[in-house]
Amino acid sequence: MKFNILIIGSELTKGLAVDTNSREIALSLAKMGLVVNKVSIVSDSLDVIEDEIGVSLKSSDLLIITGGLGPTMDDLTREALAHYFGEDLKIDPKLLGLIEDRYNLLRRETKEVIKRQAEIFPGAQPILPSTGTAPGLCIDKDGKVVIALPGVPSEMKEMLQDQVIPFIEKRFSLSKRFLVKTARVSGINEVEVEERIRGLEEEFMLDISLIPHPESVEIHLSLMADGDGGRTILDEASRRLQEMLGEHLIGFDGVSLEESIGMLLEARKLTLAVAESCTGGLISKRITDVSGSSKYFLGAVVSYANEAKERVLKVSKRHIEELGAVSPEVALDMAKGVAKAISSDIGLSVTGIAGPSGGSEYKPVGTVDIALWHLNGYLTDRHHFSGSRGEIRLKSSEAALRMLRDFLLGG
Ligand code: ATP
Ligand code: MG
Repeated sequence: MKFNILIIGSELTKGLAVDTNSREIALSLAKMGLVVNKVSIVSDSLDVIEDEIGVSLKSSDLLIITGGLGPTMDDLTREALAHYFGEDLKIDPKLLGLIEDRYNLLRRETKEVIKRQAEIFPGAQPILPSTGTAPGLCIDKDGKVVIALPGVPSEMKEMLQDQVIPFIEKRFSLSKRFLVKTARVSGINEVEVEERIRGLEEEFMLDISLIPHPESVEIHLSLMADGDGGRTILDEASRRLQEMLGEHLIGFDGVSLEESIGMLLEARKLTLAVAESCTGGLISKRITDVSGSSKYFLGAVVSYANEAKERVLKVSKRHIEELGAVSPEVALDMAKGVAKAISSDIGLSVTGIAGPSGGSEYKPVGTVDIALWHLNGYLTDRHHFSGSRGEIRLKSSEAALRMLRDFLLGG
């Protein structure tokens, strides 16, 4: 069964707004095992809409359209559909009554123009909105189903969930379920992940997609299944994935690096303080994104200037002058300094060159030193990251959090 999505709206083709409807529809229908073949976005123009309806329907059994169902003159979906099916639009008095009731309920003025929303053609069924004012349309003809939904994301979503999905399940006799498990990986790139997990797809007969982010890689394991058997396969595949990825696997189903660190710090009854230079507070932000982080995170110092490093964190002036602010020695001074200043068990620090300026031959942009201090010992690590300023900062925060996690896992 083939399924396409058609998004209508000139604000979207002009780049003034971003289409989120196709994502919502694709994710919702994926749960029923329907994988979208094509998503097209077209402007509010009658010819273009009608052409695309024709092209899209040629390669699909189900076409879901959003947008262009409102009352204004640029709302042309009804017209395009009627023309495509060779029918004439006519106002349906019953539908008009319902729309007027809805406007009254919302205490909105019923102008003449709203009558457009009550126009329908033979073969098309209205889909009544439960909160909005724009009715959707459903056409089931010659084995093909076309569903037109409002463009406003909240109205679209409601109609999709409450009415369209139950209809599609019944109409296409869909009983299987699409099951997904996601995993997050840090410290190795997409290519390395692929190498390590090679064979998993065949072994468990499932689909694997890798989604790379600047700082981590997301793995989606998915399969179609009838009942509980699918869950068991996914759980077994996850265990195998864990063996293949070792310490690089952060967690499953949305567990972030910062959450996994929080759990480890809590379990080991350790407290943390952070000293940040080039990350400007990003590490602290990520740690405190986790609710309950006050149990283990005591505080941070963003020591951007050398004077702040010296005065607040007692970083050695000699280290800064002789080795530079970006050096393993300064990073370690910062980590130890912040742990002492804030009285935490662990100090974590980052100092680096996020760019785009400030690099040198010996320390190019992307050079980042990370350190961790604990009463029983310390770790330092130098990285050379690539990318924009934002990406280098994100990768630095990830590397620092990873160093902390490895330390906690190692006991
Ligand atoms: P309706 O059929 O509900 O009248 P419409 O196309 O007439 O839809 P517009 O008035 O064009 O609606 O848009 C209403 C709002 O919905 C705008 O803010 C628009 O950016 C937003 N919108 C429309 N389509 C999408 C989409 N695909 N993704 C995200 N937002 C959308
Ligand atoms: Mg529109």
